[in-house]
Amino acid sequence: MGTGGLGAPVALYLAAMGVGEIGLVDFDTIEPSNLQRQIIHSLKDVGRHKVDSAYDRLMSINDLIKVTTHKFRLDESNIMDLISQYDVIIDGTDNFSSRYLINDACVLINRPYIYGSILSFSGQVSVLNYQGGPCYRCLFPEPPADELAPNCSANGVLGVVPGIIGTIQATEAVKVLLGIGLPLSGRLLVYDALKMVFRSISVNNHKACRVCSPQADINSLQEYDVVCAAMGNDGDDHLSPEVNITPKQVQKILTGNKNNIELIDLREPVETEICAIDGALNIPIGNLLNNLADMEKNKTYVLFCKTGERTNIGANAMHVNGFKNVHRMVGGIVRWSKDVDSNVLVY
Ligand SMILES: [Zn+2]
Repeated sequence: MGTGGLGAPVALYLAAMGVGEIGLVDFDTIEPSNLQRQIIHSLKDVGRHKVDSAYDRLMSINDLIKVTTHKFRLDESNIMDLISQYDVIIDGTDNFSSRYLINDACVLINRPYIYGSILSFSGQVSVLNYQGGPCYRCLFPEPPADELAPNCSANGVLGVVPGIIGTIQATEAVKVLLGIGLPLSGRLLVYDALKMVFRSISVNNHKACRVCSPQADINSLQEYDVVCAAMGNDGDDHLSPEVNITPKQVQKILTGNKNNIELIDLREPVETEICAIDGALNIPIGNLLNNLADMEKNKTYVLFCKTGERTNIGANAMHVNGFKNVHRMVGGIVRWSKDVDSNVLVY
């Protein structure tokens, strides 16, 4: 686990509870702005390596446990050696590339992956790759483009949110280690601090998951610097109006006369439960590709997904099959949240 906003409460509780051996991996040093959420560190630690500061604090709570620090950036060259030493992997990262990396490594060497993520006033938590249950790619098949992927330092997070999500991660880690209770596998718990609501969303194994399904094509770790070539850019002049439209243009269409225009959300049902655009029809990309023959060819369609990758696949297939009016909403619902409606949770 790391030693940031999520790792802090996870490590504190696991150490206090006496979990025998804890490995901390983080290459970062402490800045004053970290302290509103990374409660394992103190003002006197500013400038130190996070794993060193965390080590001292954990030892001050319980010196009967073994804590090992790993002072490097997790990547495809070192993750296998690291996680093969531990029974349960707890995610405290703040970026998508690392989550896909951790997930794939956990699937490949069969380790449960306690996933948590936070943003602004919301968070999510789940137990992935546990006893054949779904993995991170089953939930979120499509990595977002880096420039659209929010992180905590750029977007901010209410300090207690990682405390709540991290505490749940620690709870799940202990349950998995002891084999007790009903771990949060096959479920994604979504927390909204502003409404003070927890929602539990059922998630299934994705039958076409690229890493954990029978037809997986990822058999070893790959390059995890996610680049999404499918992304449009901000300048409208660069967009071809016949094909690509911006979220703001889509909003105009929705508020105006949307006669004969169908807005199609190509994401998986679990993703639409986290956030959705009113008026959109949900047809996951797999269903769309299988059912093109049943769709009306003369209608105008606007497709979107999370950031654009599935939209491109869907739009290309529709063009090939003779659909004439297919538009792609560039940047997907992530850009919709940025440009049109910030109340839409991004994930
Ligand atoms: Zn999977």
